Amino acid sequence: MRLLLFPLYAVMMWVMADHSKIIFIQPLGNVNKEEISLVKSSVERFYHYKCVIKPAVSLSDDILAGSKTRYEANRILAKYRSGEITLILTQNDIAIKNPERHTNEWGVFGLGAMPGTTCVISTFRLKRYATKQLFHLRLIKVCLHEIGHNLGLEHCTSGDKRCLMNDAKGTIKEVDGEELFLCAKCKKQLCNDGVCL
Ligand SMILES: [Zn+2]
Ligand SMILES: [Zn+2]
Repeated sequence: MRLLLFPLYAVMMWVMADHSKIIFIQPLGNVNKEEISLVKSSVERFYHYKCVIKPAVSLSDDILAGSKTRYEANRILAKYRSGEITLILTQNDIAIKNPERHTNEWGVFGLGAMPGTTCVISTFRLKRYATKQLFHLRLIKVCLHEIGHNLGLEHCTSGDKRCLMNDAKGTIKEVDGEELFLCAKCKKQLCNDGVCL
């Protein structure tokens, strides 16, 4: 009887496990292991989600941007979209179509669907002219920002420049001015959406 009950118990526990509290980390191409671990521990600590690291997937031509020199963030989001929250991490440069049309592409640090389940972060621009310590801090901030979008947060309107949900508008100076902090307004919004920190 016991032998029969154990598999049943295991299946029940699996079904009952709260999959909604998991964020998957998807390395895209070759990604530094230390950076993946840093993202995992930072997201877990900040949002109280468990992070599961997936095996890396290869970069492919179907997600290249028009210039063919970097990858298109929206194409990456569309390709790897799934029912689970997934943070895609790449060392390659990513871009979006430039809304101001001065050039065809606009390089970005990251992009998160809002609301949605997928975000992509590139370390490429974050490590430029930075010490390792500064680069790591930027990486954490941008990951928490893009996950914030997935969890339903829009850009911060409280005026508090320290809030990591401020729109960086493509400038690293803006990111560097932020702290590992959500203002009261963003925190309240997140809690209304079911994630109370
Ligand atoms: Zn805020
Ligand atoms: Zn944003």
